[in-house]
Parts: sequence; structure tokens; C-alpha cells
Amino acid sequence: MAKPLKTSPEGRKCKFRGCKCPLSIYNHSVYCRVHRDQVALEQIRKTRYHHLG
Ligand SMILES: [Zn+2]
Repeated sequence: MAKPLKTSPEGRKCKFRGCKCPLSIYNHSVYCRVHRDQVALEQIRKTRYHHLG
């Protein structure tokens, strides 16, 4: 008996504004691969800026 893989629901789309990239069931993020990186970078930038201010 095969172990069930941990997957996310099918038919989800990237949450990024204007992006309609379908998300893989193996992608547990709410963003597509491109925007997940972009959002992560922006979060880091914001955090740094906040700490400086
Ligand atoms: Zn996207």
C-alpha cells in the first residue's frame, strides 16, 4: 500500500495580484514559485527597513 503524499487542494491559483498561475498540489504556498520568492524578498526588505527606522 502506497503512502499518500501530502498535497494541497487542486485548482488553487496564485494569490499575487493579477497572477493567474495555477498552483501545483505539491506547492503548499499561496503563491506560485515566482511570486513566492518575490513576496519573501519584499518581506525581508520591509523588515529591514522597519528595523532601521
Ligand atoms: Zn504568481
